[in-house]
Amino acid sequence: MASIDIQGVRKTYGVVPVLHNVDLSIHDGEFVVLVGPSGCGKSTLLRMIAGLEGITSGTIRIGGQVVNELAPKDRDIAMVFQSYALYPHMTVRDNMNYSLRLRGTPADRMVSVISAAAHKLGLDTLLDRKPRTLSGGQRQRVAMGRSIVRQPKAFLFDEPLSNLDARLREQMRVEIKKLHRDLGTTSIYVTHDQVEAMTLADRIVAINGGVIQQVGTPLDLYERPANLFVAGFIGSPAINILDGVLRRDGEHTAIEFGSGERVSVVSRIPGQDNQIVKVGIRPEDVRITDQKEGALTGQVELVEPMGLGTIVHIGTNHGTLKVFVLERRDHGVGARVSYTLPAAKIHIFDAATGERLSE
Ligand code: ADP
Ligand code: MG
Repeated sequence: MASIDIQGVRKTYGVVPVLHNVDLSIHDGEFVVLVGPSGCGKSTLLRMIAGLEGITSGTIRIGGQVVNELAPKDRDIAMVFQSYALYPHMTVRDNMNYSLRLRGTPADRMVSVISAAAHKLGLDTLLDRKPRTLSGGQRQRVAMGRSIVRQPKAFLFDEPLSNLDARLREQMRVEIKKLHRDLGTTSIYVTHDQVEAMTLADRIVAINGGVIQQVGTPLDLYERPANLFVAGFIGSPAINILDGVLRRDGEHTAIEFGSGERVSVVSRIPGQDNQIVKVGIRPEDVRITDQKEGALTGQVELVEPMGLGTIVHIGTNHGTLKVFVLERRDHGVGARVSYTLPAAKIHIFDAATGERLSE
């Protein structure tokens, strides 16, 4: 196992910059997820760590050793792709044996390593099958098994579950998490799926346009997004973003919406009177209330029952607000409702830069 340190790493293809000055320290044994929209540079960063892609400038260290000039095979890390890349003419056992054989591992040692890995992944009864006779989930497990037996310093995963259907993705997510709990091997996992990022990561690295936006635990990013990009990317249903203006009066700060409606702000925030801001509020933080006093009002436009709860779309004077409620109570379309935006739950961002202003 090993730590992975990335310092001042840049990547350009020709003149096109793809990654700008990436700094990231991954601890020994940590599970880090790189998440961001398609094309933001996740795979490029992962491939540079693996040595499959050169770096334009900067330094990458694995276990303290600079690996910039080291060939992929000498970095002692294992990559798991979405396309499995299994040898079709070999059995599951031989696919898993392959790297051990190349290293001249003794036969009895191979047998015990393979059977332990197969057992861990539920592949015991499939060892003599060829990949084409396996389901997508089983093939993915073989791909992981092949990596595990090498006992690499780190695992690098590039969207390993994207080819699977939703149910299987959910299962494999749990298996990957258990595997990491059992093996404790440093892992970097790339995905565009924020649910995978939230559920798997010790720490999430949110990337947009080749720039790291925020690094933190899943709940850090959820509860305290550093900017509008992270606020909007993490969370489903997505956070509501409303346009507002800061109104300062001595110690008291409020946000005024275009409609003239106001909400108070509790946290101390920088920013001037009349500054234009964006206000974020998560759907589960909006309170539908029976009290009229101090409440804002709107009209139910649409109701999405989810079983676990209900997403209620409320048309307001400042746009549509999505509200997540746990009750399955029927909010009739067209009904007028009162709601509040609890001051402690609102996120305030500078409208011009998108950076977080609130504490
Ligand atoms: P992600 O994995 O986040 O979807 P990638 O790392 O694959 O994104 O790609 C990042 C950007 O780099 C994209 O704009 C992509 O078009 C570009 N890119 C990737 N590989 C190459 C290449 N070999 N030559 C030129 N541009 C590339
Ligand atoms: Mg990619």
